[in-house]
Amino acid sequence: MPSLRTLIFRVLLTGWCAVCSLVAMAQSVAFTFDDGPQLSQTPLMTPGQRNQALLAALEKYGVTSALFVTVANGADRPEGLALARAWGQAGHAVGNHTVTHLDLHGSAVTLAQYQKELLDCDAVIRTLPGYRKWFRFTYLREGNTPEKRDGMRQFLKEQGYRNAYVSLDTSDWRLDAKLREVLEKNAVADVTPIKQAYLAHVWQRAEAYRELSKKLQGRDIPQVMLMHHNLINALWLDDIIAMFKSRGWRITTPEAAFADPVYQLQPDRAAAGQSLLLSMAHSLGLGRFEGWERLVDDGDFEIAALKAQGL
Ligand SMILES: [Zn+2]
Repeated sequence: MPSLRTLIFRVLLTGWCAVCSLVAMAQSVAFTFDDGPQLSQTPLMTPGQRNQALLAALEKYGVTSALFVTVANGADRPEGLALARAWGQAGHAVGNHTVTHLDLHGSAVTLAQYQKELLDCDAVIRTLPGYRKWFRFTYLREGNTPEKRDGMRQFLKEQGYRNAYVSLDTSDWRLDAKLREVLEKNAVADVTPIKQAYLAHVWQRAEAYRELSKKLQGRDIPQVMLMHHNLINALWLDDIIAMFKSRGWRITTPEAAFADPVYQLQPDRAAAGQSLLLSMAHSLGLGRFEGWERLVDDGDFEIAALKAQGL
């Protein structure tokens, strides 16, 4: 007969393990926002209000995220730098996304020029709380030639920077452009269909990248999701977070997600880029698997559906 103490211990152990396995089973996602802080004008909100709305939605759910700064979008002015600082002060990580958002796949863009932009952005963000040596490639493009790709891989290593990969890529920017276009024509337009399309779009991508992760890694990886510092998220990030939570996903931090070994991989693609998972799929010669189109269509499907509704 086990003693009462042993029984209690076993119950505690089993209970604990059940909790552990539930946590382990829950698919997780980390939120990251690129191109910020964005000082350009939009309908409905000032840049400061958009920044505050994003931070408020994150705070409401206790979500720790990362902001990837593109200096020329605002951090080169005191008012923009103050918005970036607010992210660090609120406990979010602040990473590097160049100065002018140049494209490493552009034939006129040299490796040296791209590396200089990383250093120039670093000089700005290193003064901020939350500063991390995390580099997010612009357009998720890591070089159109092996020389650029390997040159950046080596440079990041030398600088002590990590490639802040994305696994779950969304086309929030495309729906954001549609939202602004509609509101610029009519400031009181009913934008509910755009909100619904946006939520559906993010969910479709989340499920598709989860499937891809299982196909490639045989498991659920902690996903790192890409969104932007824009109006659509200022309005509806709250709903996006609530959607993930209500569907059983756990929200993790970028720091915790990046600790997963998958984010150390370097796919052997000549022109590396896109979601890490897509890049891996290409490297493995997976070709056009089922659902591939909806991962690379830049939100065409949702935009066409909105057009059909007269938007
Ligand atoms: Zn960007």
